[in-house]
Amino acid sequence: MIDSYRHKGMRQRLVDSIRRKGIKDEKVLEAINTIPRHSFLDSSFLEFAYEDKPFPIGSGQTISQPYTVAFQSELLEIRKGLKVLEIGTGSGYQACVLEEMGAKIFSVERQKKLFTRTKLFLNELGYKAKLFYGDGNKGVKAFAPYDRILITAAAPDIAEALLDQLKPGGILVVPLGEGGVQSMMKITKHKNGEISSENFGSFRFVPLLKNKAND
Ligand code: SAH
Repeated sequence: MIDSYRHKGMRQRLVDSIRRKGIKDEKVLEAINTIPRHSFLDSSFLEFAYEDKPFPIGSGQTISQPYTVAFQSELLEIRKGLKVLEIGTGSGYQACVLEEMGAKIFSVERQKKLFTRTKLFLNELGYKAKLFYGDGNKGVKAFAPYDRILITAAAPDIAEALLDQLKPGGILVVPLGEGGVQSMMKITKHKNGEISSENFGSFRFVPLLKNKAND
């Protein structure tokens, strides 16, 4: 993997543009400034790697727009050592951002090909995120409970299993809704077990699929 001065310059400009759009968490901005996003895309797409846009990564899926990654990461209020469960590993870019911020990452992907490719790739880059193949709606019980849960696909509803696997005092971030546009929701599970939610506006994600894992 080559990370040249040119790449670093492009990355700095991307970070500047995300900051201008309102992201304030310095840990988020620093993570984006560190991770070689171009290496998550085929090398012929270098020009697209540092544009603030989503991009196809094969298997009909996309690597999320950097601003969206930053927005979700900021809502999660990450601190060093927090356990985070991500649903929808995709390219692995979001997982790396959270890991750079100091979190311990567990991430589930339902597409076998993507899972296999991303597992190998994150390993090559030296990230330690634990990746799982399966239906993220079930969560990953073996490592529960989690301080934070992040859903990176459009969810029609929030699976009960995920709320069960969230620690009291924990935060779950999800683009909620069917159809083309979702509402970015921050769900808080209070210490007494009560659930409250806040709406952070409209975003567009590929759908979170309900059925079992497939290739
Ligand atoms: N976080 C990713 C982008 C995710 S795109 C990144 O940083 O690149 C949404 C991903 O969710 C896709 O890879 C899709 O295959 C996956 N997905 C959809 N339904 C799922 C489910 N039920 N369980 C796990 N992953 C799912």
